[in-house]
Amino acid sequence: MTQTADLTTLAEGVGAGDRRALARAITLVESGRADHREQAMDLLGRLPRDRQALRIGLSGTPGVGKSTFIEGFGLMLTGMGLRVAVLAVDPSSARSGGSILGDKTRMDQLARDPNAFIRPSPSQTQLGGVARRTREAIALCEAAGYDIVLIETVGVGQSETVVSQMSDLFVLLLAPAGGDELQGVKRGIMEIADLILVNKADGSLKPQATRTCADYAGALRLLRKRPQDPDGFPKALLVSALEGDGLKEAWAEIETLITWRKDHDIWDATRKAQAGYWFAEEVRLQMMERLMSDPALAARIADARKAVADGELLPAAAAAMVLKEI
Ligand code: GDP
Repeated sequence: MTQTADLTTLAEGVGAGDRRALARAITLVESGRADHREQAMDLLGRLPRDRQALRIGLSGTPGVGKSTFIEGFGLMLTGMGLRVAVLAVDPSSARSGGSILGDKTRMDQLARDPNAFIRPSPSQTQLGGVARRTREAIALCEAAGYDIVLIETVGVGQSETVVSQMSDLFVLLLAPAGGDELQGVKRGIMEIADLILVNKADGSLKPQATRTCADYAGALRLLRKRPQDPDGFPKALLVSALEGDGLKEAWAEIETLITWRKDHDIWDATRKAQAGYWFAEEVRLQMMERLMSDPALAARIADARKAVADGELLPAAAAAMVLKEI
């Protein structure tokens, strides 16, 4: 894909909501090739900008029921006439070479729904590139007219913060806990969650799920009230993704929260702050890319990195030394 005419066709296809064009466009923004990057920037610049989706970050450890939840929740939303896109952020796949998220076969009913679009995570991504390709994929889904973009991430740390910086709200999916442990959920994740859903509240797991939900509700009440929240948020709710229980209620809470934030100018303010954050990140990333494109400088940086690792230089001093040579 090198012709300007192709990019025009592709941009039109995305704008018309064509899923194949959207998939091709995402492949383009995911590519690490320099010429593809240029085309990606060109393409992104041609997209309609007047469309906003609700961006929902969704996190949970493997096995908690993310795909079951997304399938049920997604089908409920498409049943309401909404168009739903699912993107996966899976930093672990960069290491393992395999994807554990967004696998189409895990959500086959939703994948077949003409009003849904599921994008599995790419198997090869560099760390700094994870955030960029996800943000650009979100932008493409919005331009394609999706009403909801679900950004799925595996709950192992780091990626939650990244995803929360590109979402309008963040949902944490938890399993019923044995005993009174809070499942080692990190305080940081609790602080970015707008909604905690305790899944598997069915059958013999229901009493445990109910206790777990009460524990989290209690823990959330202890957090300082956040300016971006109406009374009662963040909330903990019971759901059963398998039986479809609590999905309507979860959606109602999301709508309440979003309406309140829009009414209080928080929605816009948050998006503006996020745009500023990503601009600063892009400056950092592109500066680094430019430095590394000079082989001599890249070698100097590698040497300095080793000297720091070996304890011969302090990080700040080594960085200053390298930068002085530019
Ligand atoms: P993921 O790894 O987070 O995507 O989890 P999956 O959606 O693949 O679910 C992991 C396992 O938990 C599967 O065997 C599901 O059938 C089961 N599961 C998911 N949701 C529920 C639920 O609401 N209730 C029960 N009992 N099992 C569930």
